[in-house]
Amino acid sequence: MGISIEKNETTETVKTKKFMNYIDGEWKEPSSGKYIPVINPANGDILGEVAQSSAADVDQAVRAAVKAQKKWRLVPAPERAEYLFTVGRLLKKNKEKLAQIITSEMGKVIEEARGEVQEAIDMAHYMAGEGRRMFGETMPSELRNKFAMSIRVPVGVVGIITPWNFPIAIASWKSLPALVTGNALVWKPSPDTPIVAEEFVKIYEEAGLPEGLINLVQGSGPEAGAAMVEHPDIDLIGFTGSNAVGRKINERAGALLKRTSLEMGGKNAILVMDDANLDLAIESIIWSGFGTTGQRCTAASRVIVHEAVKQHLEEKLVEAVRSLRLGDGHDETVDVGPLINKKALEKVDQYVHIGIDEGATLLCGGKVAGKVGNGKGFFYEPTIFTDVQPDMAIAKEEIFGPVISIISVKDLDEAIAVNNDVSFGLSSSIFTADVNRVFQAMRDLDTGIVYINAGTTGAEIHLPFGGTKETGNGHRDSGVAALDVYTEWRAVYVDYSNTLQRAQIDTNTK
Ligand code: NAD
Repeated sequence: MGISIEKNETTETVKTKKFMNYIDGEWKEPSSGKYIPVINPANGDILGEVAQSSAADVDQAVRAAVKAQKKWRLVPAPERAEYLFTVGRLLKKNKEKLAQIITSEMGKVIEEARGEVQEAIDMAHYMAGEGRRMFGETMPSELRNKFAMSIRVPVGVVGIITPWNFPIAIASWKSLPALVTGNALVWKPSPDTPIVAEEFVKIYEEAGLPEGLINLVQGSGPEAGAAMVEHPDIDLIGFTGSNAVGRKINERAGALLKRTSLEMGGKNAILVMDDANLDLAIESIIWSGFGTTGQRCTAASRVIVHEAVKQHLEEKLVEAVRSLRLGDGHDETVDVGPLINKKALEKVDQYVHIGIDEGATLLCGGKVAGKVGNGKGFFYEPTIFTDVQPDMAIAKEEIFGPVISIISVKDLDEAIAVNNDVSFGLSSSIFTADVNRVFQAMRDLDTGIVYINAGTTGAEIHLPFGGTKETGNGHRDSGVAALDVYTEWRAVYVDYSNTLQRAQIDTNTK
């Protein structure tokens, strides 16, 4: 295995490793010559250094992509798909290595990291299948001897900007549909997770993908990311990240009339009704709220509970939290890893203080867990607040850490109203045994994803993924819906009448 923080002998080589750009089929230094350290959030170890790219590097990458896309769009889609099948096989072969890297550089526990790589594998196979589908439509023409159809064509060069919390899964949701539909890519991953990004690109390289089709530009958002948004030859920005950055990208891209597909924050809730299977609800709250240390876009950060079962739920939740083990995610017995960095740790702690100042009651947690491991990691105690009012900041804003707010309600109508009264709309869930309540929730919960008797996390790659309101701008990652992001619809009319036939004029439908 190439990289493991568990083995000192391999850590030595990793420390000096530089994570560079991949442009036009070559690994290259950034033109600035600058690098910044990559840190293991569980123990503060330096895992290597990541390139700090500038507009000049982005420009080189875009030129390579433009050139490569001209040929790629003419390759039959089933042939493009063959590369994706190979990518899927290579991801599978390297699953454990990739998972270990993810745990080292962003901290999620190893079992979850393996699950994340599996998501990329599934996506590769699913999107490879699209190479033989990619359905358009045929429709009747209103004119005689005329044929009408719609076909999908690639957008051109796609700029992908991704976050650190699902460093390979989200990159796979964007790169695989973009490639199978005939686009070329420039990808800027998060500077917190450059290592798995490099490994993913090496897999594309090993799969024999033609040079220039996938270009990796490592570096910061404000510099390399912003340069991608500005570049006139990038036709589409596929972004996943925070609301603040997505909004900034959209404002600039809007002025440039550039397409964007934005997947942003969430303030997801689990609704627990008085007839719920409470043991199942508790297990699911713990998994959805504290899995990935609460750093999933779909993490449950609110529990909206029927007043009749509130006290029982709280007691059981606190008991369950006490059994959670914090630590380095490489340890298979650890349940909760660190936060991504110091800034995130400080942000979570600030929100906890805001919650206390707002008058919420702290049930457990609420402190930096400074003694975990060597004391240099970014750990926070799993935290639960109760008596939270729906208008408090901790009930409205995305904290992105292991903090759950419990809000008490009288009935389902109130629960749905509270769920919907936030600016985000990614995921929601309801625990109830009543089929009428289930169908009402399916209809009225205003989120892109709704779970029944399951927590707010657990998306499968063949369904559309994304959210309403300020979570997105109307697009969806994964599933067949992703094809709509990376293709243009082209309407084609074939007139075989040998006469001039004018639509709306020479018809018998007047
Ligand atoms: P972030 O917005 O800080 O960064 C995301 C990416 O944008 C990074 O690659 C970053 O370098 C880049 N970036 C930053 N500033 C930029 C700029 N000015 N121009 C262009 N690019 C820029 O987000 P993060 O901290 O990496 O990720 C956490 C956020 O992502 C959370 O808000 C979470 O909810 C969200 N997220 C959403 C989904 C979803 O599908 N809805 C999935 C995962 C994460």
